[in-house]
Amino acid sequence: MSIPIQLPETFAQIPRYAILYPTPSPIHPLPSITPRLSPHPLITIHAKREDHSSPLACAGNKYRKLEYIVPDILSQTPLHHAHENNPSNPQPLRTPRNNPLAALARKLGLNAVVLLHRGTGGGLAASSDATAFQHSGNVQINRLLGAEVRVCEAGDPLALDATPLLDELRKAGKNPYWIPGGASLHPLGGLGYARAAFEIVAQEAEMGLAGSGRFDYVFVACGSGSTVGGLVAGFKLLEKLEGDRGSRKVIGILNSPTKPRAYHEKRVLAFARRAGELIGLDVGEIGVEDVRLDDRFVGSAYGVVDEESREAIVDMVRMEGMVLDPVYTAKVARGMMHWVNEGEVVDSARPSDVVNVLFIHTGGQAALGAYADVI
Ligand SMILES: *Cc1c(COP(=O)(O)O)cnc(C)c1O
Repeated sequence: MSIPIQLPETFAQIPRYAILYPTPSPIHPLPSITPRLSPHPLITIHAKREDHSSPLACAGNKYRKLEYIVPDILSQTPLHHAHENNPSNPQPLRTPRNNPLAALARKLGLNAVVLLHRGTGGGLAASSDATAFQHSGNVQINRLLGAEVRVCEAGDPLALDATPLLDELRKAGKNPYWIPGGASLHPLGGLGYARAAFEIVAQEAEMGLAGSGRFDYVFVACGSGSTVGGLVAGFKLLEKLEGDRGSRKVIGILNSPTKPRAYHEKRVLAFARRAGELIGLDVGEIGVEDVRLDDRFVGSAYGVVDEESREAIVDMVRMEGMVLDPVYTAKVARGMMHWVNEGEVVDSARPSDVVNVLFIHTGGQAALGAYADVI
């Protein structure tokens, strides 16, 4: 079943290289975790399976972002090939994120050099078996794909600025293209999820949801931020085109306590506005009130599975058969269930309305193997 996605002209003409399946990633109900006892409001919970969006290795949210970056990579005159991410704000690729890049490079006949940040902590620090960690999960798949992995130790200047690496590759006669971590600082990084908003709306129309007929809340991970930012931009444009029938609320669940919420809010707003401008919105049309980030579920560190997130993984797989990842979606599921169980998705002005909740599964399960001692 293929649902046509209607993009407005300005958006439709932006070059995109198809990496995902031509059909939308599936949306299915999560009936077993949906609370049945609360009489009002009636809540529905669905999952959008971005982990089933592409035939390439470790499908997840990164492929959607890369769809809009590949045409620039392949162009004779790439617009964004310089190391142009803000040097005071760098975030090069990290382990959980770079399998898609390595797989895509293979497919395009290019070579991938992956910068692995050891100083970031996360899985390597959390694992009780560092040797196993460095031979399983994402690290193993990168090796299988033949990606060159460069490890940055904490304090390595490369971690802050990849220019020396790019210069080295140029001296060796290569023509490198830099993609910052999560592709979020890339000027085109938010477009994939702006398009995903249109995909979700096309799916909503097919599904015949109760109540508002739309997903009132969309829960998604916020790491480097352009997944949330892109969604905010896409839904904002849809709101404008649909004639403002009220907004769908995107809730970004943060997964790391390293930086304060305000840091992420500023970035996500910038990413949303940048994507918004490209697809036909004015900068002023997206405001701080559109960026909703929740930092209550970050746990003790990036990549560390706290007890509540571990429970979320176990509950989800035992009740719904859906496997989450330890770094991002476990914390999102935990956060979403908190919002649902504590009545935080209820509109106090209309407490008896049906509320439709969407959980976006952004992938990442390949990391599980490296957490065998935790989960
Ligand atoms: C990268 C990643 C995220 C976070 O997406 P951002 O756009 O960086 O916020 C969420 N889930 C998984 C599985 C990821 O790999």
